[in-house]
Amino acid sequence: MSKFIFVTGGVTSSLGKGIVAASLAKLLQARGYRTTIQKFDPYINIDPGTLNPYEHGECYVTEDGAETDLDLGHYERFLNTPTSQANNVTTGRIYQYVISREREGAFLGKTVQVVPHITDEIKRRMTLLGQDDTYDVVITELGGTVGDIESLPFLEAVRQLKWELGDENCLVVHLTLVPYLRAAKELKTKPTQHSVKMMSENGLNPDVLVCRTEEPLYNELKRKIALFCNVTTNAVIEARDADTIYGVPLEMMREGLDTICLQKLQMPMGQEPQLDKWKEFLNKLRYPKSKVTIGLIGKYVELQDAYKSILEALIHAGAVNECKVEVVNIHSEYLTPETSAEKLQHLDAVLVAPGFGSRGIEGKIDAIRYARESNLPFLGICLGMQMACVEFARNVLGYEDAFSTEMHADTQHPVISMMEDQKKIKNMGGTMRLGSYDCELNPDSRIAACYGTPHIRERHRHRYEFNNDYLDRFEDAGFLPVGRNSKTGLVEVMELKDHPFYIGVQYHPEYKSTVENPHPLFVGFVKAALEAQDVRKTSKDPAAALEAVK
Ligand code: GLN
Repeated sequence: MSKFIFVTGGVTSSLGKGIVAASLAKLLQARGYRTTIQKFDPYINIDPGTLNPYEHGECYVTEDGAETDLDLGHYERFLNTPTSQANNVTTGRIYQYVISREREGAFLGKTVQVVPHITDEIKRRMTLLGQDDTYDVVITELGGTVGDIESLPFLEAVRQLKWELGDENCLVVHLTLVPYLRAAKELKTKPTQHSVKMMSENGLNPDVLVCRTEEPLYNELKRKIALFCNVTTNAVIEARDADTIYGVPLEMMREGLDTICLQKLQMPMGQEPQLDKWKEFLNKLRYPKSKVTIGLIGKYVELQDAYKSILEALIHAGAVNECKVEVVNIHSEYLTPETSAEKLQHLDAVLVAPGFGSRGIEGKIDAIRYARESNLPFLGICLGMQMACVEFARNVLGYEDAFSTEMHADTQHPVISMMEDQKKIKNMGGTMRLGSYDCELNPDSRIAACYGTPHIRERHRHRYEFNNDYLDRFEDAGFLPVGRNSKTGLVEVMELKDHPFYIGVQYHPEYKSTVENPHPLFVGFVKAALEAQDVRKTSKDPAAALEAVK
C-alpha cells in the first residue's frame, strides 16, 4: 500500500494549500517517487460542474471527463501527469453513494450514521488510489479550513486512518498563517496555536506545519511554534510569499519539506531532486527578454480564479517564448463596437474566453470583429470559437440575426446549435460533452504547424457545436474548419484564411498545458503576438504591414 500525506488548512482560506500540496508532490516526484494528489471538498454539490465561477473559480476538466476543482489543474501543471475522476471527491458524492447503498439495503437494517458509515466511505475513497501498486505516495488535500463544521467528518476519517495505518504511513501537514503585525513589528504565532489546538480537539495532531508568512520565521519563533504545537522544530516550515507559484517547490525544498516528510514516513531520501527542466522554466519566467500584452475577454474577469488554466497556460507559453505575457482583463459586458477599437488597439493579441449564457456576449462579438478586421492575433476558446463563427456569419456572410441557439433559440441562422445527443438531456450536472476526444487537423493549417502533428486529442466541456449545414458557406468565404472529429464530423477548429493568426477551438487547450509541456497552441499564440508587436513597432503603417504578413 502507498504512504498517505494529508494537507489541511487552518486560520483562513486562500493560503495556497493546493500549491503547497502540489509542490510537495513535485519534490517527491523529483526524488523518484511515484506520486499523485487528490482533493476532498467538503461541499454538498456532487462536483463543481454546476457551480457559478464566481462561487468557485474555474471548473477543471480531466482526461476522463470529470468536472473538478481547479486545484487539480495545479496538480497536473506541477506533476505533468493526468488526474481523473478519482482525484476529486466531495461530501455530496460520498453521501450520494452511501444513500444509494442504503436504498439497496446494503446496511442490513443498521442505522446509517456519519460515524461510521460516512467516515468509512471517506476512508475508502482516500485510500483508493493507494490500493494497487501505482503510487508510492498519495497526497490528499482537504478543502476548507479546520474549524468548519462541514470538515469534521474528513478530519475524523484522517484521525482513524492515522490510528489504523500508523504514523509512519500516514502524515498530516497543516498549513497555517503567521501574520506580521505592522504596528507591533512582530510575527504572531497565536492563530497557528489556536488552529492546531482546534485540530487536536478532534484527536488529530499535525506532524508538519507549513507557515505562510510575509517575513522570515527566525529560529526562535520556529522553536516556539514547535513547542506549543507539539511538533519537532525541523517540522516547522517557513512558506514566505513567492513571486510566482512556480517558485514554491524550490522554496519548500530549501526549507526541507520533502525531507522531513520522507523522514517521518520512514522512507529513504531517494535521488537528489531532478528539477533541471523546472529550473530552466523558472529562469525563463523570471528573466524574460520581451513582453507582450494580451487582452483576455470574458465576463468573469474580476475573478482571477475563473480563468485559472488559461492564465497559467499563457505563463507557460510566455516562458517558452522568453517573453513576459501581460494579461489585460477586459470585461465583455462593457465592450461596444465604439469602445472595442479604443480598448483593443494597444494589445498584441486577444483571447476570447469560454463561457455560458447571454451576459456580455455582444461585447465578445465586437471584440472578435475588431481582431478579425485589424489582423490582431486571435484565439477563441469554446464559447470564444462559437462567437467567432457568429461574428463571421453576421458580418461576412451577411446573416444579420446569426447566433447560437444557446442565446437565441429561434434565430433564422443557427450557425451554432445544440448537439443532437444533448437535446434529450434534462439534468444539468455532468451531462455536457466532457473529456478527451480525438481531432484530425488539416496538415496545411496554421494550427497543425503549432502542434507539429495533425493528430491531436483535447478536452471538451460544451453542449453546443458548429452547425455543419453552414460548412460550405463558411469555407467558401475563407473561415475554414481545419479540425474535425473524424468519428462524429463535429467541427473542432476554425481558422481564418488570410489572417496572421485567427483560430477558434471548440475544445479547451488550457487544461493540458503544464510547466514541462507548455501547450503548443498557446506557444504559437504568444509567438504570433510577438510577431504582431514587431510589425507594429517597425512599421509606420501597422495595418498595412500586418496585411503584408498575412
Ligand atoms: N456555452 C457553450 C456551450 O455549452 C460554450 C461552453 C464553453 O465555453 N465551455 O457549448
